[in-house]
Amino acid sequence: MKTNEKIIIVGGGLSGLTLAYLLSKKNIETTILEASDRLGGRIQTIKGISDTPLELGATWFSDFHSNLISLLEELNLKKYPQYSRGKSLFQTKSFEPPQEFYVPESQNPSYRIANGTQALIDTLAKKTLFENILLNTEVKSINEIADKVVIAIADGREYKADKVIITIPPQLVASKIKFSPILDNSLVEVLPTVQTWMAGAIKFTLEYSEPFWRNEGYSGMLYSHAGIVTEMYDHTNFEEDKYGFTGFLNGGATSYNQEVRKEFVLRQLGELLGIKALNPIAYFDKIWTDKFVLSGNPIIHRPHQNNGHPLLQKEYLNGKLLFCGTETASEYAGYMEGAIIAAKKITNKIIN
Ligand SMILES: Cc1cc2nc3c(=O)[nH]c(=O)nc-3n(C[C@H](O)[C@H](O)[C@H](O)COP(=O)(O)OP(=O)(O)OC[C@H]3O[C@@H](n4cnc5c(N)ncnc54)[C@H](O)[C@@H]3O)c2cc1C
Repeated sequence: MKTNEKIIIVGGGLSGLTLAYLLSKKNIETTILEASDRLGGRIQTIKGISDTPLELGATWFSDFHSNLISLLEELNLKKYPQYSRGKSLFQTKSFEPPQEFYVPESQNPSYRIANGTQALIDTLAKKTLFENILLNTEVKSINEIADKVVIAIADGREYKADKVIITIPPQLVASKIKFSPILDNSLVEVLPTVQTWMAGAIKFTLEYSEPFWRNEGYSGMLYSHAGIVTEMYDHTNFEEDKYGFTGFLNGGATSYNQEVRKEFVLRQLGELLGIKALNPIAYFDKIWTDKFVLSGNPIIHRPHQNNGHPLLQKEYLNGKLLFCGTETASEYAGYMEGAIIAAKKITNKIIN
């Protein structure tokens, strides 16, 4: 790379922030343009009424996710295993009692990040040497003009760069960003067919003043084919002094408002875990269909469709446009690990 090249990163999720952090360690300055009013993208930890870190987005990872684990170590962030001790429940039919099962102590447990996954985002933003992060900056078009790229923002602002690295999901690139000159036809055909992992998912969290389920021998883990909650896990914090659940709701839940979704969730948990489940301190949920994650109705036939596609590894606009982001990763695409793998790969491309 030539010295003093100006690099713009589109998207302030895990991939964009990891890329900015890794490049800043090499003394390479970047500017992040983020469309929304917050950093993190598909990572979003909120604080409950008792300050419990509650995950509306990415939560778990395993020992296989070695790039994520080494980044956490480098940033001095702690991981801890997902609680799974005690009776877990599997509900097949709403009119039959749930089956009870015990999750064996695993060689490969799922982990969570102490203080919430957002701690990773906040720490990356803090440790990136150059503080060039622009929120509320939605990229609308990228135009190659001579040896530069001009990046136009929804509100009319423009930024000029030598290189632009797009970390937003490829499906969004296809529907939201105009290119001049237009991109290769083969790429234009692939972009809308790349599945954005977890787009459309509905995640819920509950906060409680005590871990009543633990005290009664339950793990808090639930799988159900019968109720609005399809999967649920204990969501106690690292220090084990704040309590809750997190999990996923079935797709049909989108047709109810949040108050009704809460009512259905509590009814199901009340039947399975008893009346103490009926009185949480707080309930939150998020349907991941907003314009920063999904656009239109993409035709996706299988999970992770076209993730890591070879065309996403190439350079465009005469080497001035590169793709990053978890969906471009050739391994663990869709996951936090993939977001970091992609950022490492682009870093190596830029510094070599
Ligand atoms: C509900 C849910 C649960 C998940 N659970 C897990 C889990 O347990 N474990 C795991 O490993 N992974 C999980 N994931 C996936 C994980 O969140 C992603 O792999 C990872 O966060 C992706 O990071 P990214 O930077 O590649 O993309 P994103 O996080 O999508 O970041 C892209 C950023 O670009 C911004 N943006 C979009 N359009 C524009 C534009 N036009 N201009 C500028 N900026 C733009 C977005 O606002 C966003 O901030 C989950 C995801 C969801 C939604």
